[in-house]
Amino acid sequence: MADVLFLDLRKEYKDSHTVLFERFLKKTGVHTVVEKNAVCAVKLHVGEHGNSNFVSPLYVRRVCDHIRNAGGSPVLTDTTTLYRGRRYRGDLHIDLAREHGFDFAPFIVGDGLYGDDYVDVNGSKIASLITRITAMVCVSHFKGHLNCGFGGAIKNLGMGCASKGGKLKMHSGSKPTINQEKCTRCLRCLNYCIVDAIKESADGLIIDHKLCTGCGGCMSMCPEKAIVFTWDAASSDIQKGIARYAADSVRSAHVFFINFLINISPNCDCFHTNEPMIADDIGILASVDPVSLDQACYDMIKKAIDDLHPGVNAQDQLAFAEEFGLGDRAYEIKKA
Ligand code: SF4
Ligand code: SF4
Repeated sequence: MADVLFLDLRKEYKDSHTVLFERFLKKTGVHTVVEKNAVCAVKLHVGEHGNSNFVSPLYVRRVCDHIRNAGGSPVLTDTTTLYRGRRYRGDLHIDLAREHGFDFAPFIVGDGLYGDDYVDVNGSKIASLITRITAMVCVSHFKGHLNCGFGGAIKNLGMGCASKGGKLKMHSGSKPTINQEKCTRCLRCLNYCIVDAIKESADGLIIDHKLCTGCGGCMSMCPEKAIVFTWDAASSDIQKGIARYAADSVRSAHVFFINFLINISPNCDCFHTNEPMIADDIGILASVDPVSLDQACYDMIKKAIDDLHPGVNAQDQLAFAEEFGLGDRAYEIKKA
């Protein structure tokens, strides 16, 4: 059973939330994962273009200050997305991070320019940067999620530390195909694919699924959005994949987790719009155990999450995460 430290922001305070957060950070023990003169990654979500519900840079800046004060070098990181938005390629992602105010520490995209820079960890395609770091603070926005009921620390790790090919594997039972109507036969994808899975045929370019590793890199290369896949994975399978990837992403690092139960939106920060909130702001929670932490957050807004997506069992990811050894669902709340 892990302790979950809780800063309740429903109370009235004389100080601002950011000042309270600074004091909270000192009590959390975040500094215990920071190594002197070494990189400490800060895993975050900078928000899709058009979304402003993500964890504010005002808070993340303070996490970075805290890491620096403990002698470490903070590096902000996230991975490329599977869908075509402003975080689809590494360069675009860096631009958006800066635009959203994350300009106070280096931002490095964990799976590289095209999302294909990964290391195979137990069959999971984990962003290579994540496999190289030894310390990480995982900053997560806890909110609703279409496929998983909720998204918190487990999802930030599992989906957020996966390369593009890892995300493809979790979201789809098949490999990419080429839409012949959109394809202009520019051959960029063919020249890019290092396993020569893309070939010319009388009917246009085709992907040989026996050779394709599902890395997803060609999807980043295509200027016509002609390389497509089917979003056909079932909710429970996605949650199982996320839990497995989450466990595989933190095998080599000391990690501390902070969840924000603020701006509790119905959907994740990949949505390019703001929607009516499903619950009032509650506060900020922190723990060394991502499963305890997500369980504690879920328990605080259980009804809102369960009412949101009645066909989704949001507890699946918690149960799978525990099964894969990521943490323990039992927890004890300690008020900060
Ligand atoms: S065809 Fe398959 S292996 Fe080749 S780049 Fe595309 S996803 Fe990767
Ligand atoms: S990169 Fe896109 S448009 Fe160019 S050949 Fe490949 S699928 Fe067709």
